[in-house]
Amino acid sequence: MKNLKFYSILDKVLKSLNVSYPLDISFIRPSQLIKPRPREPFPYTESIGMGSVKEDYSWGYEDCKDYNSIVIIVMFSDVAVDYYIRETLTPSLMQELNNVYKKEICFYDDYSLIRKEIATLAGLGKIGRNSLFFSHKFGFNCKIDLFLTDIIFDSYTECDDSNYKFEKCASCNICVKACPVNAYSNFEMIDVFNCDKVITPDWDTPEKMCRNCITSCPWSKKLLRKLYAGGVPKNNWLSRPRSKLTNAE
Ligand code: SF4
Ligand code: SF4
Repeated sequence: MKNLKFYSILDKVLKSLNVSYPLDISFIRPSQLIKPRPREPFPYTESIGMGSVKEDYSWGYEDCKDYNSIVIIVMFSDVAVDYYIRETLTPSLMQELNNVYKKEICFYDDYSLIRKEIATLAGLGKIGRNSLFFSHKFGFNCKIDLFLTDIIFDSYTECDDSNYKFEKCASCNICVKACPVNAYSNFEMIDVFNCDKVITPDWDTPEKMCRNCITSCPWSKKLLRKLYAGGVPKNNWLSRPRSKLTNAE
């Protein structure tokens, strides 16, 4: 399949959802995920509310081999508690691809694969000192999702994990000082549970929720200002359209 055809199908889905948020996309081969990242394993050992996050990579890396491609999508988002990409865009896109090909060609891993790790491998950004994914286009103002598919694309990103740290962090520590509970340090989340205690009381009022790790970074702020200046809408999670298509399972 030409990557171009994928983009025309994506365009149709975005139009049907009336979505105008910018995206960044990469296609990678699952075989490139077999090699673990050359650093400490990601430390989350249990669910943090987004499905089961595995302690190791065994499930995802093994099962990926059954598919030809992984599509990684990074979507602009400047709000907390935003599951739009996971609940609406990804299932709608998967369903439309299944419709076009008249068969089930897409598979959703339900967050068994760690998004920020794979988005970094796929060349869409780096990991910041706050342990979050810094998108080349959106800074920390983004959400990530992915799905596996039988589709074979005509071109792929070559995965490279040799330099995963966001280079501006080398001479900066602003976000580390901004976290009220010292939840992260040196590119790793070390205390997700204390972060949870800070953010959980504001779950129903996300505009009040602590996002210091995201909003304190000057490089992320710079990108955000540029995006707003380019016409990307601000803080409008409440008005986001829901899927008009039936979600794929
Ligand atoms: S605030 Fe500084 S240390 Fe933190 S992610 Fe941004 S550049 Fe890196
Ligand atoms: S949301 Fe707040 S408490 Fe949680 S890691 Fe970020 S800065 Fe720390």
